[in-house]
Amino acid sequence: MPAEIVDLRSDTVTVPSAAMREVMAAAPVGDDVYDEDPSIRALEELAAELCGKEAGLFVPSGSMANVIAQMVHARPGDEIVVPDKAHSVLYEVGAGPRLAGVQYSEIAGRALFTAEELAPRIKAPTFHTPGTGAVWVENTHNMAGGRIFPQEDLVAIGELCHERGVPLHMDGARLFNAVVASGRSAAEIAAPVDTVTFCLSKGLGAPVGSVLSGTKEFRTEAHRTRKLLGGGMRQAGIVAAGGIFALEHHIDELAEDHRRARTLAQRANAMAGLAVELDAVETNIVMADVESGDAEGLAERAKERGLLFHALEPTRVRFVTHRDLSDAAIERALELLATCL
Ligand SMILES: *Cc1c(COP(=O)(O)O)cnc(C)c1O
Repeated sequence: MPAEIVDLRSDTVTVPSAAMREVMAAAPVGDDVYDEDPSIRALEELAAELCGKEAGLFVPSGSMANVIAQMVHARPGDEIVVPDKAHSVLYEVGAGPRLAGVQYSEIAGRALFTAEELAPRIKAPTFHTPGTGAVWVENTHNMAGGRIFPQEDLVAIGELCHERGVPLHMDGARLFNAVVASGRSAAEIAAPVDTVTFCLSKGLGAPVGSVLSGTKEFRTEAHRTRKLLGGGMRQAGIVAAGGIFALEHHIDELAEDHRRARTLAQRANAMAGLAVELDAVETNIVMADVESGDAEGLAERAKERGLLFHALEPTRVRFVTHRDLSDAAIERALELLATCL
Protein backbone atom coordinates (compact mmCIF):
# COMPACT_ATOMS: atom_id res chain seq x y z
CA MET A 1 0.00 0.00 0.00
CA PRO A 2 1.16 3.58 -0.65
CA ALA A 3 2.63 5.49 2.29
CA GLU A 4 -0.14 8.07 2.40
CA ILE A 5 -3.40 6.47 3.44
CA VAL A 6 -6.86 7.99 3.57
CA ASP A 7 -8.82 5.98 6.09
CA LEU A 8 -12.60 6.18 5.73
CA ARG A 9 -13.31 2.82 7.39
CA SER A 10 -14.62 4.30 10.62
CA ASP A 11 -14.42 7.23 13.02
CA THR A 12 -12.86 4.77 15.48
CA VAL A 13 -9.48 5.24 13.75
CA THR A 14 -9.03 8.71 15.28
CA VAL A 15 -5.98 9.02 17.52
CA PRO A 16 -5.55 11.20 20.62
CA SER A 17 -3.97 14.61 19.99
CA ALA A 18 -0.86 15.87 21.79
CA ALA A 19 -3.05 18.13 23.95
CA MET A 20 -5.28 15.20 24.91
CA ARG A 21 -2.27 13.03 25.76
CA GLU A 22 -0.88 15.77 27.99
CA VAL A 23 -4.10 15.92 30.01
CA MET A 24 -4.16 12.12 30.20
CA ALA A 25 -0.60 11.91 31.50
CA ALA A 26 -1.41 14.34 34.31
CA ALA A 27 -4.77 12.80 35.30
CA PRO A 28 -5.39 12.08 38.99
CA VAL A 29 -6.21 8.37 39.43
CA GLY A 30 -7.47 5.88 42.00
CA ASP A 31 -8.93 2.38 42.15
CA ASP A 32 -12.04 2.39 39.99
CA VAL A 33 -13.28 -1.01 41.14
CA TYR A 34 -13.73 0.74 44.51
CA ASP A 35 -15.32 3.66 42.59
CA GLU A 36 -12.40 5.81 43.76
CA ASP A 37 -10.83 7.07 40.55
CA PRO A 38 -11.43 10.86 40.56
CA SER A 39 -10.97 11.24 36.80
CA ILE A 40 -13.46 8.46 36.08
CA ARG A 41 -15.97 9.89 38.54
CA ALA A 42 -15.58 13.33 36.93
CA LEU A 43 -16.15 11.84 33.47
CA GLU A 44 -19.18 9.88 34.65
CA GLU A 45 -20.72 12.96 36.25
CA LEU A 46 -20.07 15.10 33.20
CA ALA A 47 -21.49 12.48 30.83
CA ALA A 48 -24.59 11.84 32.97
CA GLU A 49 -25.23 15.56 33.24
CA LEU A 50 -24.90 16.06 29.48
CA CYS A 51 -27.33 13.18 28.92
CA GLY A 52 -29.76 14.46 31.57
CA LYS A 53 -29.47 11.29 33.67
CA GLU A 54 -28.73 10.74 37.36
CA ALA A 55 -25.57 8.68 37.04
CA GLY A 56 -23.08 7.39 34.50
CA LEU A 57 -20.78 4.38 34.32
CA PHE A 58 -17.50 4.37 32.39
CA VAL A 59 -17.08 1.13 30.43
CA PRO A 60 -14.31 -0.09 28.12
CA SER A 61 -16.49 -0.22 24.98
CA GLY A 62 -19.89 0.51 23.50
CA SER A 63 -20.42 -3.21 23.09
CA MET A 64 -19.98 -3.72 26.82
CA ALA A 65 -22.37 -0.84 27.57
CA ASN A 66 -25.00 -2.46 25.36
CA VAL A 67 -24.69 -5.94 26.83
CA ILE A 68 -24.76 -4.52 30.37
CA ALA A 69 -27.98 -2.69 29.50
CA GLN A 70 -29.49 -5.94 28.20
CA MET A 71 -28.39 -7.87 31.30
CA VAL A 72 -29.76 -5.27 33.70
CA HIS A 73 -33.03 -4.52 31.88
CA ALA A 74 -34.02 -8.01 30.76
CA ARG A 75 -34.21 -11.53 32.12
CA PRO A 76 -32.95 -14.56 30.19
CA GLY A 77 -35.59 -15.59 27.66
CA ASP A 78 -37.00 -12.07 27.30
CA GLU A 79 -37.28 -10.37 23.96
CA ILE A 80 -35.52 -7.12 23.15
CA VAL A 81 -37.33 -5.20 20.41
CA VAL A 82 -34.61 -3.87 18.10
CA PRO A 83 -34.54 -1.75 14.96
CA ASP A 84 -33.50 -3.16 11.60
CA LYS A 85 -29.76 -3.85 11.35
CA ALA A 86 -28.99 -2.86 14.94
CA HIS A 87 -25.31 -2.78 15.91
CA SER A 88 -26.11 -4.99 18.88
CA VAL A 89 -27.55 -7.65 16.59
CA LEU A 90 -24.95 -7.47 13.82
CA TYR A 91 -21.64 -6.50 15.37
CA GLU A 92 -21.41 -7.47 19.02
CA VAL A 93 -20.56 -11.16 18.55
CA GLY A 94 -24.02 -12.24 19.70
CA ALA A 95 -23.38 -10.87 23.20
CA GLY A 96 -27.08 -10.27 23.98
CA PRO A 97 -28.25 -13.84 23.30
CA ARG A 98 -25.06 -15.35 24.64
CA LEU A 99 -24.46 -13.34 27.81
CA ALA A 100 -27.86 -11.82 28.65
CA GLY A 101 -29.82 -14.82 27.32
CA VAL A 102 -32.20 -12.56 25.41
CA GLN A 103 -33.67 -13.00 21.97
CA TYR A 104 -34.36 -10.25 19.48
CA SER A 105 -37.61 -9.14 17.94
CA GLU A 106 -36.42 -7.18 14.94
CA ILE A 107 -38.53 -4.47 13.29
CA ALA A 108 -37.55 -5.63 9.81
CA GLY A 109 -36.90 -2.89 7.30
CA ARG A 110 -37.21 -0.12 9.88
CA ALA A 111 -33.96 1.32 11.25
CA LEU A 112 -35.95 4.28 12.58
CA PHE A 113 -39.45 3.32 13.64
CA THR A 114 -42.64 4.82 15.05
CA ALA A 115 -44.61 4.15 18.22
CA GLU A 116 -47.37 2.61 16.05
CA GLU A 117 -44.89 0.14 14.55
CA LEU A 118 -43.55 -0.69 17.98
CA ALA A 119 -46.86 -1.11 19.84
CA PRO A 120 -47.85 -4.63 18.64
CA ARG A 121 -44.37 -5.95 19.43
CA ILE A 122 -44.46 -5.14 23.13
CA LYS A 123 -45.67 -8.30 24.80
CA ALA A 124 -46.47 -9.36 28.33
CA PRO A 125 -45.21 -12.88 29.05
CA THR A 126 -47.84 -15.61 28.80
CA PHE A 127 -47.74 -19.35 29.45
CA HIS A 128 -46.37 -19.83 25.91
CA THR A 129 -44.61 -16.62 24.97
CA PRO A 130 -41.67 -14.59 26.18
CA GLY A 131 -42.25 -11.04 27.42
CA THR A 132 -40.52 -7.88 26.24
CA GLY A 133 -37.48 -7.07 28.36
CA ALA A 134 -36.52 -3.80 26.71
CA VAL A 135 -36.92 -1.67 23.61
CA TRP A 136 -33.85 -0.51 21.71
CA VAL A 137 -33.21 2.55 19.58
CA GLU A 138 -29.96 3.38 17.78
CA ASN A 139 -29.15 7.08 17.37
CA THR A 140 -27.50 7.84 15.05
CA HIS A 141 -28.18 4.59 13.24
CA ASN A 142 -24.97 3.16 11.84
CA MET A 143 -26.27 0.86 9.09
CA ALA A 144 -28.88 3.40 8.05
CA GLY A 145 -25.96 5.70 7.22
CA GLY A 146 -25.75 7.76 10.39
CA ARG A 147 -29.40 8.79 10.39
CA ILE A 148 -30.87 10.69 13.32
CA PHE A 149 -33.91 9.24 15.08
CA PRO A 150 -36.82 11.68 14.54
CA GLN A 151 -37.36 13.26 17.95
CA GLU A 152 -41.20 13.28 17.79
CA ASP A 153 -41.14 9.52 17.21
CA LEU A 154 -38.71 9.04 20.05
CA VAL A 155 -40.94 11.01 22.41
CA ALA A 156 -43.99 8.91 21.40
CA ILE A 157 -41.97 5.68 21.78
CA GLY A 158 -40.84 6.83 25.24
CA GLU A 159 -44.45 7.44 26.28
CA LEU A 160 -45.54 4.06 24.98
CA CYS A 161 -42.71 2.20 26.74
CA HIS A 162 -43.42 4.09 29.95
CA GLU A 163 -47.14 3.19 29.79
CA ARG A 164 -46.33 -0.45 29.17
CA GLY A 165 -43.63 -0.57 31.84
CA VAL A 166 -40.84 -1.58 29.43
CA PRO A 167 -37.39 0.02 29.69
CA LEU A 168 -36.19 1.98 26.65
CA HIS A 169 -32.46 2.00 25.84
CA MET A 170 -30.61 4.21 23.38
CA ASP A 171 -27.47 2.91 21.71
CA GLY A 172 -26.13 6.40 21.12
CA ALA A 173 -22.60 5.42 20.11
CA ARG A 174 -22.75 8.53 17.88
CA LEU A 175 -25.19 10.52 20.04
CA PHE A 176 -23.10 13.68 19.76
CA ASN A 177 -23.23 13.53 15.98
CA ALA A 178 -27.02 13.69 16.39
CA VAL A 179 -26.60 16.57 18.86
CA VAL A 180 -24.47 18.65 16.52
CA ALA A 181 -26.51 17.91 13.39
CA SER A 182 -29.92 18.49 15.01
CA GLY A 183 -29.04 21.40 17.30
CA ARG A 184 -30.78 19.59 20.19
CA SER A 185 -28.93 18.93 23.45
CA ALA A 186 -27.98 15.37 24.40
CA ALA A 187 -30.30 15.72 27.41
CA GLU A 188 -33.23 16.59 25.17
CA ILE A 189 -32.51 13.75 22.76
CA ALA A 190 -32.10 11.25 25.60
CA ALA A 191 -35.04 12.52 27.69
CA PRO A 192 -37.48 9.84 26.44
CA VAL A 193 -35.11 6.92 27.16
CA ASP A 194 -34.32 5.24 30.48
CA THR A 195 -30.71 4.46 29.64
CA VAL A 196 -28.28 5.81 27.07
CA THR A 197 -24.72 5.03 26.04
CA PHE A 198 -22.32 6.97 23.83
CA CYS A 199 -18.79 6.26 22.60
CA LEU A 200 -15.85 8.50 23.44
CA SER A 201 -13.60 6.56 21.10
CA LYS A 202 -15.29 7.37 17.77
CA GLY A 203 -15.73 10.85 16.34
CA LEU A 204 -14.99 12.42 19.72
CA GLY A 205 -11.40 11.23 19.36
CA ALA A 206 -10.61 9.73 22.79
CA PRO A 207 -8.68 6.46 22.78
CA VAL A 208 -10.97 4.21 24.84
CA GLY A 209 -14.40 3.93 26.34
CA SER A 210 -18.09 4.66 26.49
CA VAL A 211 -20.34 6.02 29.21
CA LEU A 212 -23.63 4.28 30.07
CA SER A 213 -26.11 6.49 31.95
CA GLY A 214 -29.43 6.06 33.73
CA THR A 215 -30.85 6.23 37.25
CA LYS A 216 -28.66 5.76 40.34
CA GLU A 217 -30.21 2.32 40.90
CA PHE A 218 -29.48 1.36 37.30
CA ARG A 219 -25.86 2.43 37.73
CA THR A 220 -25.48 0.31 40.87
CA GLU A 221 -26.61 -2.79 38.96
CA ALA A 222 -24.62 -1.85 35.87
CA HIS A 223 -21.46 -1.36 37.95
CA ARG A 224 -21.84 -4.85 39.39
CA THR A 225 -22.53 -6.30 35.94
CA ARG A 226 -19.43 -4.59 34.53
CA LYS A 227 -17.42 -6.39 37.21
CA LEU A 228 -19.11 -9.67 36.28
CA LEU A 229 -17.99 -9.21 32.68
CA GLY A 230 -14.40 -8.55 33.72
CA GLY A 231 -14.72 -4.84 33.02
CA GLY A 232 -13.72 -3.65 36.49
CA MET A 233 -10.83 -1.28 35.91
CA ARG A 234 -8.27 0.12 38.30
CA GLN A 235 -6.36 3.37 37.58
CA ALA A 236 -8.21 3.89 34.31
CA GLY A 237 -8.58 7.61 35.01
CA ILE A 238 -5.74 8.04 32.53
CA VAL A 239 -8.06 7.02 29.70
CA ALA A 240 -11.12 8.70 31.26
CA ALA A 241 -9.22 12.01 31.20
CA GLY A 242 -9.05 11.67 27.42
CA GLY A 243 -12.82 11.32 27.44
CA ILE A 244 -13.30 14.49 29.49
CA PHE A 245 -11.01 16.35 27.12
CA ALA A 246 -13.03 15.06 24.17
CA LEU A 247 -16.35 16.20 25.68
CA GLU A 248 -14.91 19.60 26.50
CA HIS A 249 -13.19 20.27 23.19
CA HIS A 250 -14.36 18.03 20.39
CA ILE A 251 -18.16 18.05 20.28
CA ASP A 252 -18.61 21.17 18.14
CA GLU A 253 -15.93 20.01 15.72
CA LEU A 254 -18.13 17.10 14.65
CA ALA A 255 -19.82 19.67 12.39
CA GLU A 256 -16.68 19.58 10.23
CA ASP A 257 -17.01 15.81 9.84
CA HIS A 258 -20.60 16.33 8.72
CA ARG A 259 -19.61 19.00 6.21
CA ARG A 260 -16.94 16.72 4.76
CA ALA A 261 -19.36 13.80 4.58
CA ARG A 262 -21.78 15.95 2.59
CA THR A 263 -19.06 16.96 0.13
CA LEU A 264 -18.01 13.34 -0.23
CA ALA A 265 -21.62 12.22 -0.73
CA GLN A 266 -22.42 14.81 -3.38
CA ARG A 267 -19.25 14.24 -5.36
CA ALA A 268 -19.42 10.44 -5.09
CA ASN A 269 -23.04 10.50 -6.21
CA ALA A 270 -22.00 12.46 -9.30
CA MET A 271 -19.56 9.69 -10.32
CA ALA A 272 -20.68 7.09 -12.81
CA GLY A 273 -20.94 3.76 -11.02
CA LEU A 274 -21.91 5.06 -7.56
CA ALA A 275 -25.24 6.18 -6.14
CA VAL A 276 -25.75 7.92 -2.81
CA GLU A 277 -29.13 8.74 -1.33
CA LEU A 278 -28.22 12.32 -0.46
CA ASP A 279 -31.19 12.98 1.83
CA ALA A 280 -30.02 10.12 4.05
CA VAL A 281 -26.65 11.77 4.71
CA GLU A 282 -27.35 13.60 7.94
CA THR A 283 -24.10 13.19 9.88
CA ASN A 284 -20.65 11.64 9.22
CA ILE A 285 -21.57 8.41 7.41
CA VAL A 286 -22.06 7.99 3.67
CA MET A 287 -23.52 4.80 2.23
CA ALA A 288 -22.94 4.35 -1.49
CA ASP A 289 -24.49 1.75 -3.78
CA VAL A 290 -22.01 0.25 -6.22
CA GLU A 291 -23.67 -0.18 -9.60
CA SER A 292 -21.26 -2.90 -10.78
CA GLY A 293 -22.58 -4.98 -7.88
CA ASP A 294 -19.05 -5.64 -6.63
CA ALA A 295 -18.52 -3.54 -3.51
CA GLU A 296 -15.78 -5.87 -2.24
CA GLY A 297 -13.81 -5.52 -5.50
CA LEU A 298 -14.04 -1.74 -5.37
CA ALA A 299 -12.81 -1.68 -1.77
CA GLU A 300 -9.91 -3.99 -2.72
CA ARG A 301 -8.81 -1.83 -5.64
CA ALA A 302 -9.04 1.31 -3.49
CA LYS A 303 -6.98 -0.29 -0.74
CA GLU A 304 -4.15 -1.01 -3.18
CA ARG A 305 -4.04 2.73 -3.88
CA GLY A 306 -4.18 3.80 -0.24
CA LEU A 307 -7.90 4.51 0.21
CA LEU A 308 -9.60 2.48 2.92
CA PHE A 309 -13.34 1.91 3.36
CA HIS A 310 -15.61 -1.02 4.11
CA ALA A 311 -17.85 -3.00 1.78
CA LEU A 312 -20.55 -3.62 4.36
CA GLU A 313 -22.95 -5.34 1.99
CA PRO A 314 -22.38 -7.02 -1.40
CA THR A 315 -23.39 -3.90 -3.34
CA ARG A 316 -22.84 -1.22 -0.72
CA VAL A 317 -19.79 0.59 0.63
CA ARG A 318 -19.58 2.86 3.66
CA PHE A 319 -17.41 5.96 4.04
CA VAL A 320 -17.02 7.52 7.49
CA THR A 321 -15.53 10.97 8.03
CA HIS A 322 -13.71 11.89 11.23
CA ARG A 323 -11.51 14.51 12.90
CA ASP A 324 -8.21 13.10 11.62
CA LEU A 325 -9.15 13.90 7.99
CA SER A 326 -8.49 17.19 6.23
CA ASP A 327 -10.30 18.68 3.24
CA ALA A 328 -7.26 17.65 1.19
CA ALA A 329 -7.72 14.05 2.33
CA ILE A 330 -11.31 14.10 1.09
CA GLU A 331 -10.14 15.44 -2.27
CA ARG A 332 -7.56 12.69 -2.48
CA ALA A 333 -10.21 10.08 -1.57
CA LEU A 334 -12.47 11.33 -4.35
CA GLU A 335 -9.65 11.21 -6.91
CA LEU A 336 -8.73 7.66 -5.92
CA LEU A 337 -12.35 6.60 -5.95
CA ALA A 338 -12.83 7.94 -9.46
CA THR A 339 -9.72 6.05 -10.60
CA CYS A 340 -10.95 2.80 -9.06
CA LEU A 341 -14.39 3.09 -10.63
C1 LIG B 1 -19.34 1.45 17.47
C2 LIG B 1 -20.71 1.18 17.91
C3 LIG B 1 -20.98 0.53 19.13
C4 LIG B 1 -19.93 0.04 20.08
O1 LIG B 1 -18.74 -0.22 19.58
P1 LIG B 1 -17.41 -0.61 20.42
O2 LIG B 1 -16.47 -0.82 19.33
O3 LIG B 1 -17.73 -1.80 21.21
O4 LIG B 1 -17.07 0.56 21.29
C5 LIG B 1 -22.29 0.35 19.48
N1 LIG B 1 -23.28 0.78 18.69
C6 LIG B 1 -23.07 1.42 17.54
C7 LIG B 1 -24.23 1.92 16.75
C8 LIG B 1 -21.78 1.64 17.10
O5 LIG B 1 -21.57 2.27 15.93
